[in-house]
Amino acid sequence: MSQNFNAYQIISKKRDGKRLTDEEIKWFINGITNGDVADYQMSALLMAIYLNGMNVKETAALTDAMLYSGKTLKFKDVNVIDKHSTGGVGDKASFILGPIAAACGVKVPMMAGRGLGHTGGTVDKVESIKGFKTSLTLEQFKKQLNKEKIVLIGQTKDIAPADKIIYGLRDVTGTVESIPLITASIMSKKLAEGANGIVMDIKTGDGAFMSDLKDAKALAKSLRDTAKRFDKRMVTMISDMNQPLGQYIGNSLEIIESIETLKGNGPKDLTDLSVKLAGAMVYIAGKAESIKEGEKKARAVIDNGKALKVFKNLIKVQGGDEKVCDDYSRLPVAKHKTVFKAPKKGYISAIACKQMGLHCVSLGGGRSKASDKVDFGVGFVLNKKVGEQVAKGDELVVIYHNKNQKKQVDGILADLKKDIKITTAKPKPTKLIFETKEI
Ligand code: URA
Repeated sequence: MSQNFNAYQIISKKRDGKRLTDEEIKWFINGITNGDVADYQMSALLMAIYLNGMNVKETAALTDAMLYSGKTLKFKDVNVIDKHSTGGVGDKASFILGPIAAACGVKVPMMAGRGLGHTGGTVDKVESIKGFKTSLTLEQFKKQLNKEKIVLIGQTKDIAPADKIIYGLRDVTGTVESIPLITASIMSKKLAEGANGIVMDIKTGDGAFMSDLKDAKALAKSLRDTAKRFDKRMVTMISDMNQPLGQYIGNSLEIIESIETLKGNGPKDLTDLSVKLAGAMVYIAGKAESIKEGEKKARAVIDNGKALKVFKNLIKVQGGDEKVCDDYSRLPVAKHKTVFKAPKKGYISAIACKQMGLHCVSLGGGRSKASDKVDFGVGFVLNKKVGEQVAKGDELVVIYHNKNQKKQVDGILADLKKDIKITTAKPKPTKLIFETKEI
């Protein structure tokens, strides 16, 4: 029997810390998708959820309602596995682990996002390759996945449209950092695109949305609980975002570092994390007995060049200039370079991660508002990372910028003196991965 609901009662119930039923959640999400619920009512419910939380059952019902707000894809193959990162600075791992996993026989359906706040976006980065098309129809997406084992597109309006509306409201109502809301947002999209298993890279640290390890662990658990209710396999890894991942920050620059990593010349942190995440994908796809064995397979396809071949082919089939893999001058890297030198000798003990992301945005490498156009060429190369010894005058950071950006570059040079800490004592080694769990 259908019940009569109204927004006021549902908002009040959550405001008072009570549990919502599956039907109430479904009614509300249908309402925001078809216009029966107003934005201000959704915003009030979001704040009530932010303040009072949701249990596993409510989170699953919210995910379910958002998932079925649009079209859903289904793949019979158990080896359709995606990866999702909660976002960070210099995080280009998708370009490495996707081709690695595909080269190991996994089907990788990547629906990626654009830059958000201080974090860069996979779609913006790949669009720095001339011609690369990031919008395909769902039919084309499916066809390419079956034929090429890998596909990479941006969010489409057909997949989980309720998330698009809700995310827009969360962004402007201070309700982004909520574990049930993040869980439902991520899982509704991943489940709708048809993945049968998901590897989650949950970032923690100064450059992450979940800066605290305790919160990152709670988010990881919530994602696993939700995956379990939907009968999906999942590996969650919590990885460090207290300094940028790898050495390159900025759209074209990150494509170069990804290609170098696929050639076997990548920095250790980026290579290790990509191999571990890809190893987990290979494992839950049923192509390895353990994550460790998956990692071995992942390293092998870097060493024998197969992963690079997959990346080149991905660029080609999506209309991009695959020659960039052999000739970086075909990428639009900014022509002007300014170097930041070490003001004293010692050890690098910290690199303000979020700040580096914000500096990149200030040069135009990210967006301050949704309608901004991204500059693919600007960014940074970090010659030294945390723990490394430096002499006074060593070149620590190369800033890639445009001719007319002297004012921004001078500001960044002044900030880098505070952003990059140099101490006489050697800092403790940093951890790359804090926790790995699976269901
Ligand atoms: N990424 C998403 O897709 N949604 C969130 O809420 C946070 C990160």
